Amino acid sequence: MDNQNKKKIRLVATGGTIASQARSRVSTEGYQASVISVEDLIAELPELNDIVEMSAEQIFLKPSSAITDEDLFHLSARVNELLASDECDGIVITHGTDTMEETAFFLNLTVNSPKPVVITGAMRPAHVISTDGLLNLYNAVCCAASDASHGMGVVISMNDLILSARDAVKFSSFKTDAFQAPLYGVLGTVRNANVTYCYKPLMRHTTTSEFAGAQYGKMPRVDVLYMLQGIDDMLFKAACEAGCKGIVSAGSGNGGVIGAIGKAYRDESEAGKDELPVLIRSTRVATGGVSDAYRMGNPKIIPSHDLNPHKAAILLRFALAKTNDPAEIKRIFEQY
Ligand code: ASP
Repeated sequence: MDNQNKKKIRLVATGGTIASQARSRVSTEGYQASVISVEDLIAELPELNDIVEMSAEQIFLKPSSAITDEDLFHLSARVNELLASDECDGIVITHGTDTMEETAFFLNLTVNSPKPVVITGAMRPAHVISTDGLLNLYNAVCCAASDASHGMGVVISMNDLILSARDAVKFSSFKTDAFQAPLYGVLGTVRNANVTYCYKPLMRHTTTSEFAGAQYGKMPRVDVLYMLQGIDDMLFKAACEAGCKGIVSAGSGNGGVIGAIGKAYRDESEAGKDELPVLIRSTRVATGGVSDAYRMGNPKIIPSHDLNPHKAAILLRFALAKTNDPAEIKRIFEQY
């Protein structure tokens, strides 16, 4: 392909296992984390130059567990800046897999362009036998260069699959097919540079998101409480004392809030406390979501529908940065 017809794809590298060096060819653990620079990473894939006009930058180099709100807003601003230019047709972000779904969902809410944004990573470090990093990167670039990725929102491309940022979940802590979309399924596949989509996300994202382009200095505090048999109200009270504006319950089954916490919330509510945090009912169950039940006549108790607790926490922080009106927050949880 001559250079004129090639798509201009920008790789924005953040670190993660894809940028990590194995201790030996057969060791997938205890590797040197996030040490391979973006230049060294793409130098290993000269084949990219056959299909796209590739450029790259290192925005940060850290494990994904170390990524902060500040990093995310910085990344989102940079992605929006790049996509606003005619010099960029699409973006690939390399990222640690541990919190990849959070960054992906964050960007799905804040990217202000229909151009492709594809996030990828690796479950196995570089130079170990059967590493998945280079093929994942190659596939992600194919995906970002495909016209079919236009308007799909932010996607994750791992293990030959394309998943919506909204639905993707890390489902295995070690297998290369770690990412799944258990309730709604994957959007498409990438095989031998062929990108095929079968489905399109309909919930609001990127250009239809009311948070597109948002930059908040400080996000409201939201805490996630994991429901366990016999749990007491200590963590709930601590979260309230820490000034949290919202709580996401990683509830049992259909979003069940365990007795002591439900009672503490009800007591505070009956005492008419204005500062009572919004309570989003999510579930610790891997798939299925929660229904709009058990609101106990309290408008501040809102279902996450099928967003898992960590994605519900991100959406709740954006919602609370905009409004304290429970009806508005409920509307936001119905639309994203
Ligand atoms: N610890 C790595 C991370 O940065 C794990 C990975 O990339 O798979 O998330």
